[in-house]
Amino acid sequence: MRLILLGPPGAGKGTQAQRLIHRHGIVQLSTGEMLRAAVAAQTPVGIKAQGIMASGGLVPDEIVIGIISDRLDQPDAAKGFILDGFPRTVPQAAALDELLKKKHIKLDAVIELRVNESALLQRVETRVAEMRARGEEVRIDDTPEVLTKRLASYRSLTEPLIHYYSERRKLLTVDGMMTIEHVTREINRILGAIGAVEAKAALKVAKAKPAAKAAKPAVRKASKSAPRSAAAPKKAAKASGKAGKPVSKGTKIGTKTAAKKPSRKQVAGSRTRSALKAGKTAKKVTKKRAKA
Ligand code: AMP
Repeated sequence: MRLILLGPPGAGKGTQAQRLIHRHGIVQLSTGEMLRAAVAAQTPVGIKAQGIMASGGLVPDEIVIGIISDRLDQPDAAKGFILDGFPRTVPQAAALDELLKKKHIKLDAVIELRVNESALLQRVETRVAEMRARGEEVRIDDTPEVLTKRLASYRSLTEPLIHYYSERRKLLTVDGMMTIEHVTREINRILGAIGAVEAKAALKVAKAKPAAKAAKPAVRKASKSAPRSAAAPKKAAKASGKAGKPVSKGTKIGTKTAAKKPSRKQVAGSRTRSALKAGKTAKKVTKKRAKA
């Protein structure tokens, strides 16, 4: 599974990324974390980024694109990843498209955590207070002044990505104002709906029911609803009709909602029903004729 988490600072991207990586066995690629590590190690990149980060500005595109390109080549990213904090600008998104194309990697979805901006300041203040209480080091850019700047930069530079990915039919929006647990559940649900996690579930079904004679119908059913291969999960999701299921109020599955074309089963069902109806009418006519 390859995802991008999109949302303003304080939207809960880091928290949700952590939960997703544990559940799906993938890695979190956070440019913010990587840059903080570079600053701590005082590498040339860290030295360049330090002042920019402290003031709430954005590190130059070429630096973050380089970091991400190298990170995607590491073996642990091969199983899947969540990009957190990258891309943050349209040129970064375009560069990512190029990188993924070159590396033959396909992005499954971009999940936007939509939050009420007025709640963000409160959230960050709570996070800072909790970190202080635990004796943890607080991020230098987690102050109300810097946060205001980071929010402004999100609005002008990062928010256009919502349109960018929506146009490319990749955007899924989740209400980030729900509880952490609810947001996680919602993300997992929509990932299932688009087929991004279906392959795994299908594999479990297939493993549970080995291809014995008696299990034939079940196996056939599983292979019908499951993607034909992990490489074509979306096609399978469309075919299974699952992606067409309406999502809850707080969630849009963007343009990914599958076409409303009836499934074969539905078509077959309606055919059966019309055949039955026709049969009944024929019987009635015969009865009437007999009476006459
Ligand atoms: P984050 O942890 O994602 O909030 O990032 C912390 C800081 O790192 C940001 O305020 C930026 O200064 C810098 N940063 C992280 N990711 C990027 C990016 N994709 N492009 C530019 N700067 C970034």
